[in-house]
Amino acid sequence: MLQRISFCALLVGCAFSCPAQEGPSPQVLVIRAGKLLDVESGRLLANQMILVRGGKIEAIGERVSAAAATTIDLSRFTVLPGLIDCHTHLADAGDGEPLHVLEMTSAETAYAAIPNARATLLAGFTTVRDVGVYRAFNDVALRDAIAQGLVIGPRMFVAGAYITISQGAGAMTGLAPDIQLPWDLHYGEANSPWEVRQRIRELAHRGADHIKILSTGAVLTHGSNPKSIEFTPEELQAAVDEARNFGLRVAAHAHAAEGIKNAIRAGVASIEHATLIDDEGLALAKEHGTYLDMDIYDEECIQDASKKNPTPADFLEHDRELGEIQRRNFTKALRAGVKMSFGTDAGVCPHGINARQFAFMVKYGMTPLEAIQSATVSAADLLGKSDLLGSVQTGKYADLIAVSGNPLEDVRLLENVKFVMKEGKVYKQVP
Ligand SMILES: [Zn+2]
Repeated sequence: MLQRISFCALLVGCAFSCPAQEGPSPQVLVIRAGKLLDVESGRLLANQMILVRGGKIEAIGERVSAAAATTIDLSRFTVLPGLIDCHTHLADAGDGEPLHVLEMTSAETAYAAIPNARATLLAGFTTVRDVGVYRAFNDVALRDAIAQGLVIGPRMFVAGAYITISQGAGAMTGLAPDIQLPWDLHYGEANSPWEVRQRIRELAHRGADHIKILSTGAVLTHGSNPKSIEFTPEELQAAVDEARNFGLRVAAHAHAAEGIKNAIRAGVASIEHATLIDDEGLALAKEHGTYLDMDIYDEECIQDASKKNPTPADFLEHDRELGEIQRRNFTKALRAGVKMSFGTDAGVCPHGINARQFAFMVKYGMTPLEAIQSATVSAADLLGKSDLLGSVQTGKYADLIAVSGNPLEDVRLLENVKFVMKEGKVYKQVP
């Protein structure tokens, strides 16, 4: 009975009766998909059935059968794999002003993240790569709370903290020098290759899934210049080497062209933002197979948010200047054939509107299929989880979403996801 209650508790707006989950046998479901998008080939397959057992996809075809399976009828919908956002900040209190973090306790910040996680999942993002928190390890705690079913949200891969130089892009800046921050607000600061290694050793031990390093200055940090280099090539190299020792990949925040190239040469898995990437940087990214994770919808949000809450003037100025350049460079990167993943910097934009970026990716040169691939197969590859995530295939997690109509014709349909399943559990049911 306990199992049955906990399963029901996770159903959000569930229209069908709650399936029984008696005994040790795993939940068995059959989903009837009117159309199923094969995100790898771009083919839309008609009238497919997807057999889900124990949270994973067991079979797909025009006919599948399983005894005692519960059927979910999505015959009026197009089914796709759950979306993946490779650049979120679910566990931080989203605000234009980082110093507002100081107005909340760590516990308040953690509770404030609960709606962020829920909004993201219900928007169809079943997995996120979360890339840093001001309060160290709030993201680890949120990931684990979601995994334990305490909080509704996407599967999270987390960084634990920002690895940043002192007073750098990932630091809590703008304070008087005699203000002493609590440990968790400056945990990731490092100022030499060995300090970088030390931080990564600790983060790996304490549950980080990847490392986030700030290679250049940032837009949304006081006293920071996005065009300046922060970590040196030696420090970046130390980060990648040390992370590799623990089987972790590195995501590098970088706006400035030199900082981007330093990070690519060091061997990072992805460049976040990649705003001022130049031709040499594009060639290097292609050569090294580095993903560019370009948050090209952000400028709208940052300028928009400033109308409601005062965003600091230095941030707005950085952003206005860089937004259009980043979009042009997105198009150049695409033409150059560089690997691209879907990352929105959610937290800067409100959580749950992540999918609005698809239309921008299409506007700046992607086909709808390429935009969808950036948030599915490519994102799974960047995470190193292609065996479990990123497409609807036998053996992978049953992370499924559904939309009305054909998203290859209108990618904005993804802004209005009708059905969400994560690991075989329904969180949003069709009306
Ligand atoms: Zn970010």
